[in-house]
Amino acid sequence: MTENFADNYANNFERTPGGAILMDGNRLRDEIVAQLNTEISGGLDVCLATVLVGDDKPSRIYVNNKHRKATEAGMVSRHVELGADATQAEVEAAVSDLAADPGVHGILVQLPLPDGLDADAVLEHLPPEKDVDGLTQRSMGALVRGQQGHVPCTPLGVMRLLERYDVATSGKKAVVIGRSTLVGLPQVLLLGRKGVDATPTLAHSRTDDLASVCREADIVVAAAGMAGLVTADFVKPGAAVLDVGISRSESGIVGDVDFDSVESVAGAVTPMPGGTGRMTIACLLQNTLAASRMLAAK
Ligand code: NAP
Repeated sequence: MTENFADNYANNFERTPGGAILMDGNRLRDEIVAQLNTEISGGLDVCLATVLVGDDKPSRIYVNNKHRKATEAGMVSRHVELGADATQAEVEAAVSDLAADPGVHGILVQLPLPDGLDADAVLEHLPPEKDVDGLTQRSMGALVRGQQGHVPCTPLGVMRLLERYDVATSGKKAVVIGRSTLVGLPQVLLLGRKGVDATPTLAHSRTDDLASVCREADIVVAAAGMAGLVTADFVKPGAAVLDVGISRSESGIVGDVDFDSVESVAGAVTPMPGGTGRMTIACLLQNTLAASRMLAAK
């Protein structure tokens, strides 16, 4: 990605009051959306479809943001909405209809689904080319095997931030906190890939002395969903710290990283909000453009 942007930007990174590079997801997302718009307005037809089940407010906000940014990128977007009482068969049928529609290139099923619905069974109705969230068994299998396929957007967004902000990965130690299939597991795979060449450790709720495990790392990715878990004593001076976790408090959205204490120790840090979440959307749109190309080449 880095070569796609202005060279002189690299010397001009914004810094936190404590001196860390601010890995600004808003800025990088806007760059990516603008770049996509240039490619798509050259005459491409790209359509992202979303499926929202139930009335979870944060999910609705996420879906709306995805549509807004898809439009800015020059894509067409479609939205299918089902009530909280939708049956498994109805949700699967909605996804199958979109899967069969040649006018739809990427499909995102907003998770989590309401209690009682089997998300894995729904996702398996997605053909791999349209699985722009990269969450089906086939996409995950392709990631493990290093084959072509869509990579889950949140861990991919973390990788884009590392690239954009010139964070060295080769030979570096990384710790990923959280072992979900949505974030932690694919993150470890991406960090350990040939060409990235970090040495990742996968930490979780049973990890003994998490602070000292993290203090060994040059890169920490926090995806636990525990507000303020990562404090300054978790951070090796100069390390890059990327906050994925989202918790909701009375004062708004809070990350896993205690930004105020960490920013004076870290070499680079993401804000929350304004960091990894923005990149999740940017990567979803990049995957959707890639999906339209994969389908056109079939
Ligand atoms: P998840 O499935 O609940 O997984 C959480 C993981 O964190 C589990 O592996 C858990 O360990 C681990 N964990 C929990 N508390 C811990 C602690 N105190 N110390 C160490 N590890 C701990 O959640 P997820 O879907 O991966 O999402 C993680 C967070 O990222 C959530 O806050 C979610 O909202 C957020 N998220 C953000 C984005 C974004 O775009 N920024 C996208 C997706 C998710 P065990 O396995 O041992 O239980």
